[in-house]
This record gives sequence, structure tokens and C-alpha cells, in this order.
Amino acid sequence: MAFTLTGGDVCQVTIPTPIPNPYWVAFSPSSARLVDIPLNTSNLPADPAWLNVLAGNQLTVEQHDFSSPIASAYSGHQFGVWAGQLGDGRAILLGDISGQELQLKGAGKTHYSRMGDGRAVLRSSIREFLCSEAMHSLGIPTTRALSVVGSKMPVLRESLETAAVCARLAPSFIRIGHFEHFSSLQNVARLKELADLLIADHYPQCLSAEEPYLELFRNVSRRNATLVAQWQAVGFCHGVLNSDNISALGLTIDYGPFGFLDQFQIDHICNHSDHGGRYAYHRQPQIMHWNMACLASSLVPLLELKHDEKDAQSMLRNALEEFPLIYGETWQKLFRAKLGFQTTGNEDIPLLERLLQAMHDSKVDFTSFFRRLSAVNSQTQVKDIALRNEFIDRESIDQWFNDYLMRIKSENISDTERTNLMNQVNPKFVLRNHLAQTAIEMAERGDFSEIQRLMGILAAPFDEQPEYEEYAKPPPPGSNHVEVSCSS
Ligand code: AMP
Ligand code: MG
Repeated sequence: MAFTLTGGDVCQVTIPTPIPNPYWVAFSPSSARLVDIPLNTSNLPADPAWLNVLAGNQLTVEQHDFSSPIASAYSGHQFGVWAGQLGDGRAILLGDISGQELQLKGAGKTHYSRMGDGRAVLRSSIREFLCSEAMHSLGIPTTRALSVVGSKMPVLRESLETAAVCARLAPSFIRIGHFEHFSSLQNVARLKELADLLIADHYPQCLSAEEPYLELFRNVSRRNATLVAQWQAVGFCHGVLNSDNISALGLTIDYGPFGFLDQFQIDHICNHSDHGGRYAYHRQPQIMHWNMACLASSLVPLLELKHDEKDAQSMLRNALEEFPLIYGETWQKLFRAKLGFQTTGNEDIPLLERLLQAMHDSKVDFTSFFRRLSAVNSQTQVKDIALRNEFIDRESIDQWFNDYLMRIKSENISDTERTNLMNQVNPKFVLRNHLAQTAIEMAERGDFSEIQRLMGILAAPFDEQPEYEEYAKPPPPGSNHVEVSCSS
């Protein structure tokens, strides 16, 4: 349900700024079905007025009245440093639609735009659109994308680009930063309203707990611990894990300079602006934990309504310690499944760690390695396993495969069953940067067909789709290295 807190200190009514001559760049029929938008035979909204609504040029369509759109205030830590007030600088919440909030990203300046222009460019909007829908199909909690609407309107970034508006959907866009905002202002009444709203709409089970706010914290933390384990398991790097980019519902949110691992590099940094590697792949779990610590400190005043400061802090500190346990359990479960283990063996984790180290040393492609591993026959000879050729140190990988074959033989399932199970958790297709880049370059020339094609392929990431074999491959050697940064 829409952010129902009202008042100028929380949110501001913000009318989107129209864009000239809007046109469809991308549209997700699956998201449209989620919110009951009737479609025509081209899989676009049957009512053409939706184009203007999703461009930010019109506020009513069919039975929907979006005439009080809002931008909300939040604060946050950016790259580990307190940044003070931020807020929806380029996102405008139109309102509710079939249980989801509908938000336009890039629809013009808001009260919180600071020095920004309130716009988003075509390139970043396509990336957000494709990745939101791809993550959903991978079974990873995420905000959804409904559409990208483009315009020839120029937008200045490092070079001159053109504007686009990405329409997003989520049950709620509340972020950790919303809590930090009221907590930093020592506005306990607002903080309580926000927590009560979140509980009532999204965590009603907390109401029956002895300590509803502590239980709320536990739930948010648990969801984000699970989320980050899921990211690690598909090799997803978010890129900007600032506390204002962390969802209170445990959704992947704010797709910017994200990237899926091609070659496995444990310390891979996907964000070109992240010089220190704060948000590198291997740091994501620890950083998410840190963000949960930000939430915990913001909630202290709510526990202080019933307890003294020391007790309030210690209850939250104890709850915070659950994060690494939940993360660790989920990570192990997901990676066991990636290896095809249905049972739990004592040596599984050392075996997995040896593999990851070897993959790192040889820069093995993450997605295709696990996908191809599922096809390994347990009765085969190690020397006949083609995957061994991906590694530099053959002796040590042969030893690894030897141990792996023994381990899978100890499972009581057939090779075919194991292959099927592994193929349900090891995607064949992820949104590799070079694939998104091709779609973007074509779109910049006015051809949106590659976005459509990618959307179709990534909607079934676990299916073989043999006609799209090229899309499953690592980037070709010499293909342009794509640099993505915060500026979008
Ligand atoms: P991000 O790094 O995209 O999560 O953005 C951090 C903050 O900057 C948020 O408050 C955004 O709303 C704001 N912001 C980012 N880009 C713009 C822009 N072009 N115009 C206005 N605000 C922006
Ligand atoms: Mg953000």
C-alpha cells in the first residue's frame, strides 16, 4: 500500500514533469498482468493513454487516479559515510495499483533533487528494466519493472544522452534510509508511524510478538540476509549498497552500476566509481550486515518506549547477530544445491571452497561453469571432463573432480535427476553486461528488438533454449569491456 504518512516533513506532492513525444522502449507484459492492466494483441496496454501515464505526462487512466503523486524524504549512509537527507530525487510515487506501488523513475525534479535534474537516461533505464525482470525470473526478490518510455529530450551526463522514464512496481518502496531519516531527526513519533505502517501492511505477524519492533527488525534483517545469499549464488553484484538503496522488504532495489560475474573473481568490483571496493562481490554480505546495523540503531528509540537504553541496545545487538547465521545457512544451502548435493556432507563446504578458489585463480566463468557442471556423469573419468580445461592448475582441479565424483556418487539419485535439479538452480542465462550493452546500443539507434529478445530469454533463465546458445556464453575475448558507474 502506498506510503500513507502525510505531511511536508515526510513527503511532498510532486507532479511529474512531462517529456516531449514519448514512445515505448520496453514493456513487461508479466508486470502488467501482476497489476491487472489489460493488454492488446501486441502485448502493450489496450488503453493507449498508459503511454502518457508511464511517461509522467498524464495522471489518470482507466479507473486509476494518480492525481496526488508524491516524493518522499529519506536519509542514508553512502559509501559508509553519513550523507544526511537524500530522498526521492528522481522517483515519483504515482499511487497504488492492485496491491503494488507504482513509481516513475526519472520523471523530473522533486523537492529532494538537490543538484540533480530528476532525470534518468535511456541506457540506465534499460539496464534497470531488464535486470528487474531477469532477477524476478531467477526467483530473487526484487522491485519489478513495468516499462521504459523514451523521449528525444537531451539529458547531460558525461556526454549528451536522451531521457527515459522507468516505471517500477513494489509492494512498498520503504528503505532503511526512511528509518534513518526520522531517527537522525530524533522524531520518534514519525519513526513509530513508519514502523507501524510497515508492520501493518507487510509484517503483520510482528503484531503478536512481545516486542513488535524487535520482531520487525528480525524479519527485515532475515529477508536481507537471505537476499544477499541469493545474489552470491547467481554472481550478482549490486554495486551501490548504500543504506538508502536497501529495501525494508528485502527486495533488490535501485539498479545502477550492477553486474553479474562473468569470470569468477571473488573481489570483483562492478561499480567503476567504487575505488576502494567497498561493494565488491565478496563484501556484499558483510555490507548488508552493516546496513542492518544502521537499521538497528535507528530502531533503538522505539524499543526505548518500553525499555531503558542499555536493554534496548542489547536486544537489537543480539538480534543483529542472527544475520551472519541466516546468511551462512542460506549460502550453504544454495551452493550445495548448485553442486547437486541433496544431502549434507561434512566435507561439502571445504570442497566448495576449494572449487571457488580454483575458479578465482583461473578466472573461470561463473554462470556457465555451474551450468555445465550439472551435465557431468558420475561414472566418467576425470580426464574426460571437459570442464577441467577451464583451469590452469590441472593437477589440483583433477583432484577436486575426483573428490566431487565420489561425493555425487554418495547421493541416492540418478545422474538424470541430479542434472534436472541442478538445472533448476544454476541458470543458463543471466543479464551479462555485454548483452545489456548490445541491447542499449541498438536502442540508442532506435531499434528496441534486442530488449524484447533479451527479455524473452531471461524470462526462462533455467530453460535450455538451444536457439540462444550464444547468449549463454561468456563475453567474447576482446569484446568491449563495459564500465558502469553511479552516473546515470
Ligand atoms: P542513487 O545512488 O541512484 O541511489 O542516488 C542517491 C541519491 O541521489 C537519491 O536520493 C537519488 O534520488 C538522488 N539522485 C540520483 N540521481 C539523481 C538525479 N539525476 N536527479 C536528482 N536526484 C538524483
Ligand atoms: Mg538510490
